[in-house]
Amino acid sequence: MLAFSDLREATYCPRKLYYVRRADRSVPDEVEAVRELAHRYDAILAGGCDEELAELAAVPPPAYREQLRHTVERCPRFDALREPAARDVLVTGRDCRGIAGKVLADPPAPSLVSPGRPPENGVWEPHSVWAVAAAKALAWENGTSVERAFVEYPAYGTVRTVEVTARRTAAYRRAMRTVEGIDGPPPRLRNSAKCESCEFADTCGVKTRTLRSLLGL
Ligand code: SF4
Repeated sequence: MLAFSDLREATYCPRKLYYVRRADRSVPDEVEAVRELAHRYDAILAGGCDEELAELAAVPPPAYREQLRHTVERCPRFDALREPAARDVLVTGRDCRGIAGKVLADPPAPSLVSPGRPPENGVWEPHSVWAVAAAKALAWENGTSVERAFVEYPAYGTVRTVEVTARRTAAYRRAMRTVEGIDGPPPRLRNSAKCESCEFADTCGVKTRTLRSLLGL
C-alpha cells in the first residue's frame, strides 16, 4: 500500500522521496497552523482572524480577504469546503492511502491542504498526483467514481480544482511505478530548478543553479 505523500514526493524527485523516508516526518507546528486557516474561511470572510493572518498568511489580511472572495466566486464547491463532511480522514484505496484534509459529500471529493504557494494556474505536478491518488482511493472506498479533487493553499487563500483526467491518471500510475521501483538512492536530477528549493539539497550534494552561477560555471 503506497502513501499519497510518497507519490507526491516521488513526482517532485524520486531521490527526494528517498531522503524524506529517512528523515523525521513529524509536521512542524507552523505548518499545522497554516493548514488550520483552511478551517477558518467563514471567520476570515467575516473580518476576523487578523492576528493569525498577519502571522501565517503570505499576504496582509486585506489582500488575503480579497483573494479569498475571488476564490469563493471561482471554486465550484467552496460551500462544501467551508463545511466538509469530514476532516483529516484516512482514506484507503486499492493501491494507496493517506490523509485527506477534507472529504466532501454528494458528490464525494477529497481536498488536500498544502502549506505552500500555488503556481500561477492549476496545481504543481506533484500536487496533481497527490490529488488523483486521494480521488482514486476515495472512489475505491465509496465504490463510486470520483471525478474531481481540490488542493487548498490556505497561506494564500487559494483553492484549485483538479479534474481526474486520463493524463493526470497516467502521471499517477507513473508515480506508483517509480515508488515501487525505489530500492536504493535514485540518481540526482540534472540541471533542475527543483533542486534550488529542495530541503535536501545539502544532503544530496547537488550543485544548484544559484551555486553554479555564483561560481561562474
Ligand atoms: S537536491 Fe535535487 S536531486 Fe537532490 S533530492 Fe532534491 S530535488 Fe532531488
